[in-house]
Amino acid sequence: MYAEIISIGDELTSGQRLDTNSQWLSQRLGEIGITTLFHTTVADDLAANVAVFRSAIDRADVVIATGGLGPTADDLTREVIAECLGRPLVQDEAALQHIMGIFSRRGRDMPQRNKVQALFPAGSRVVPNPEGTAPGIDVEISRPGRSSCRLFALPGVPAEMFQMWQDTVAPALLTGSGAGRLIRHHRIKCFGVGESHLEQMLPDLIRRGRDPSVGITVHQGTITLRITAAGSSPDDCRQRMTSTEETICQCLSELIFGEEDDELEHAVCRLLLAQNRTLATCEAGTGGLIAHWLGELGEAASVYQGGLVVPSNASLTGALCLSADLLTEHSPASPFVAEHMAVHCRNTLQADYGLAITAFPAEAGGTYYVALATSKGVSVQPLDYTGHSAIRKPLAAKRALNLLRLHLLAK
Ligand code: AMP
Ligand code: MG
Repeated sequence: MYAEIISIGDELTSGQRLDTNSQWLSQRLGEIGITTLFHTTVADDLAANVAVFRSAIDRADVVIATGGLGPTADDLTREVIAECLGRPLVQDEAALQHIMGIFSRRGRDMPQRNKVQALFPAGSRVVPNPEGTAPGIDVEISRPGRSSCRLFALPGVPAEMFQMWQDTVAPALLTGSGAGRLIRHHRIKCFGVGESHLEQMLPDLIRRGRDPSVGITVHQGTITLRITAAGSSPDDCRQRMTSTEETICQCLSELIFGEEDDELEHAVCRLLLAQNRTLATCEAGTGGLIAHWLGELGEAASVYQGGLVVPSNASLTGALCLSADLLTEHSPASPFVAEHMAVHCRNTLQADYGLAITAFPAEAGGTYYVALATSKGVSVQPLDYTGHSAIRKPLAAKRALNLLRLHLLAK
C-alpha cells in the first residue's frame, strides 16, 4: 500500500512556513506499514489543486491532504475534492451544529463564512475535529479495474491534524487493507570512518529490496545505519532485525558507539560513569562545543568537571599561562600547545582526563591537534582540517570525544 501526502497553502509554497505535516504523517504512516511514495506541496490555487489531487488519486492507494479547510476564500480543499469526484457539496447537519457549538461556547456569533466548513462532497464521511472548527473529509474513491483509493483531507493546523490522525485516520487505515502489519526502525550509530568506507565493511547489507532493509546516512561525521523491518507486532519486527543487527556489530565493532538518539557525548558519558572517572576539557577551535554538549546532559554533571574555552592567543596566555614567547615559538595549532591545554585543564579542574582541541589552522588542509591527558601521560594526535566549512567544528569536537571513547574502551 502506497501513500501520497499533499500539503496545501501559499505560505508553504512561498517558503514562509515549513511543511512539517508531511514529515510527521510519513512517520506515522510508516509505523502502520504504509510507505509514502510522494510528498506534494501546492499553493492555494483551484486548478493546481485539482491536478494534484487527480494525480494523487491515480498513483497512490492512500492520500492524506492537509490544509485548505478553513472558512476563507483561499481555502479550496472541499471544492477541489468535489470537483475531482464529480459530486456536489452537501451540508452535514451534525458538523454544522458542532461548528456553531464552538462559537457559542466562546460567546461569539458564527460568521456566515464558517458555514462552508459544514459542506462535504456527497458520499464522503466527516472526520471529527474535537477542538477546531474545520472537520476533515474521508472518502473512498473507486478506480476502474483497480482497488479504490482512500482519501483523507485534514486541517493544516498541526495540533488539530495530529489529534484527528490519532482518533480517526489511523484506526480507519488499520482496519482497512494492510491491517496488522507494522513497521519498526532501529538505528545504529557509528563514528570513525567515512560513509563509503563503512559501507564496504558491511557484507552487501545496504542493497535494495533486502528484508529487513538497511539504510545509511551521515550527519557531521556520524553515520547512522537504519534497520527497517515489517512484522505483525513490535516484538516480531524486533526479532526480524536481530541477525542483521548482529552482523553489523561483528563487522563494525568499535566503530559503533550507540543506538537511536545517542550521540558521542552520551557514549563517553556512559563509559566515564561506568569507570567512575571524571573529565575536563579545553577547547580552542571548537569554541566550547564539547562543553555545550556535555552541559546539556543531566547525567554528565557527576563526570564533567568543566571546560575552558580559549578561542584566541590572548586567552591562551591569560587562562593557560602560556607566555607570548612560547606562542611565537609554537603555533596555537601545535602538538606542544595541545599537550599544554590537556594537562592544564586536567590539573586545574582536577579531573582524571583532560581533553583538548587546539586552534584550527588558517587554511583548510592544514593540521590541528587533539590531546588526551591521563594519570599516565599525554597522547597527542594530529588531525587534518578537512570537511565542509559548515561541519568542521562539530567534526573536530566529535573526533576528540571519539579519541576519549576509544581510550576508555581499551581499558
Ligand atoms: P489551513 O488549514 O490551510 O488554514 O492552515 C492552518 C494553519 O496551519 C496555518 O497557520 C498554516 O501555516 C498551518 N499549516 C498548514 N499546513 C501546514 C503544514 N503542511 N505544515 C505545517 N503547518 C501547516
Ligand atoms: Mg491555508
